[in-house]
Amino acid sequence: METIERGPEPGMGLADRLEWFRCRLPPSCHLLAVSKGQPLDRLREAVHCGQRSFGESRLQEAISKQQALADLPPLDWHFIGRLQANKARAVLRKFGTIHSLDSLVLAQRLDRIAREEGLRPRVFLQVKLRPDPAKTGFSAEDLRSDWPALQALTGLDVVGLMTIAPLGLTSDQQVNLFETCRALASELGLPELSMGMSGDWPEAVQAGSTWVRLGSALF
Ligand SMILES: *Cc1c(COP(=O)(O)O)cnc(C)c1O
Repeated sequence: METIERGPEPGMGLADRLEWFRCRLPPSCHLLAVSKGQPLDRLREAVHCGQRSFGESRLQEAISKQQALADLPPLDWHFIGRLQANKARAVLRKFGTIHSLDSLVLAQRLDRIAREEGLRPRVFLQVKLRPDPAKTGFSAEDLRSDWPALQALTGLDVVGLMTIAPLGLTSDQQVNLFETCRALASELGLPELSMGMSGDWPEAVQAGSTWVRLGSALF
């Protein structure tokens, strides 16, 4: 992977950085701009450059941004943070896509609330393919055994799998991890893969990611 440029030059402005990534991502891979912690004017600038999909991990921060940006054309908001059961309804109301659904119990709760609200969110199931105390997610075995119950949840549009690579892997190990995730998704018939962040997006793209979640490399 050494020959691949991993990110734009440090001095580049946001418009050029967005363009830099757009030129390098394959057409099958979307760019999710992870805007958590970013001020509103940065989001406005990104929207001005044609970016529509934004990832946020804190509910309150996202709600205030959504209100402050209500004058813009509708944006595509993705929830990428840890999903707490008591905030499930609010997350459903504010986000069309959820990347971090990490247990069957939570999926069942989300499904019930989505049907009550007349919503049908796009959902990625978060999987944890290597031990990582800092992360949650289905193990591959749990996902396989929970899969029939997950498929029965008509209130959720389960589109794919999401994973976060643990720190400290080599490039080859990252590719291997992302390929394992792709194989699991294809075994379940799921078309989308939310994989790759600023530090490992080239490996995720190589393994077939359809959504890279870029924060620090972009903003
Ligand atoms: C913050 C975050 C990102 C973006 O991370 P960068 O390394 O800044 O690109 C992506 N995914 C999740 C789940 C995050 O919490």
